[in-house]
Amino acid sequence: MPGEKVVTSKIALTYKDEIRDFLASLPPNTPAPLLVGLLATSDPAAESYANWTKKAFEEDGLRYEVRKIEEQHVEEALAQCNDDPNVHGIIVYYPIFGLTPSYSGSSHDDYLRDSVSVQKDVEGLTFTYRTSLYKNIRYLNSNPNSKCVLPCTALSCVKILEHCGVYAKSPGVHNRLQGKTCTIINRSEIVGRPLAAMLANDGATVYSCDVDSIYKFEAGGLRRCDEGTTVKSVVEISDVVVTGVPVKSYKLPTEWIKENTVVINVASFKNVDADELLKIDGVKYVPMVGKVTVKMLERNLCRLYKQYHMDRKG
Ligand code: NAD
Repeated sequence: MPGEKVVTSKIALTYKDEIRDFLASLPPNTPAPLLVGLLATSDPAAESYANWTKKAFEEDGLRYEVRKIEEQHVEEALAQCNDDPNVHGIIVYYPIFGLTPSYSGSSHDDYLRDSVSVQKDVEGLTFTYRTSLYKNIRYLNSNPNSKCVLPCTALSCVKILEHCGVYAKSPGVHNRLQGKTCTIINRSEIVGRPLAAMLANDGATVYSCDVDSIYKFEAGGLRRCDEGTTVKSVVEISDVVVTGVPVKSYKLPTEWIKENTVVINVASFKNVDADELLKIDGVKYVPMVGKVTVKMLERNLCRLYKQYHMDRKG
């Protein structure tokens, strides 16, 4: 049986319905939750992502507002959003200072990332949420009403894998990926590293590939693989392969991929030759995740609104 392309719009629709039901449950005349995007980079990709987010939010009845600011005013704008009870979620478009030649620029981006209130961090990237993820803690302060927020792109991959039948249907929360091997070619803080931790927390053995190293994530910890471990050797044994290489020329050799593997491309470039890949029996190929990612962003906003802002009139 040849491979198949997975249509993510159907998966996105499930969450669209969930968001519609949540909005319908709000008291009459309650303004919809508001996400503010802080745009201080001249990167056209960030601006188009902001425009695209606005369109999706408006279609789903949520509010989104982009604020364009000079980089020296980001911290102040962020503090205002943190303090404003009418703002329920904040997204900051990076890199801001990371674009400058000095490497210390990215440290300042990290500082900004950690300055977002946990009650408004729709991306789940603050220190509090990152630490919880890497320690496999699902609720803040053990409070069942304070579920931790997870990074949207990584979460979209998890939802897609559930849809593709990779997760066991049994209700055991921590081990539904037991026996599965996954390879993720990307170890950024936004995509690859949180995704590796999430899949390992669910019981998988995860190989996390970066340009110069391969790590093995398993429930309870990670370690660097020995020199004999290669991307080829881990892809060949993987049930799931996620590619996130932000380079046009990068192509994952399809002959490494075994039958029945689920391959997800999160990069904006096509890291895999789809025609060749789909010749492999039983392969499921997900060429892009953006439609599900934006639904995860909306879902995170609604969750934060429900957990922390419901008693405030916006
Ligand atoms: P990044 O530049 O921060 O990280 C890229 C990662 O890939 C790094 O870990 C890097 O070392 C690794 N890498 C680069 N070349 C490699 C190679 N040849 N072999 C192995 N690893 C390699 O980028 P990012 O923010 O993680 O984004 C990655 C891609 O995903 C981009 O194309 C971006 O546009 C896309 N993206 C998509 C979404 C979405 O929801 N659709 C969200 C975020 C990012």
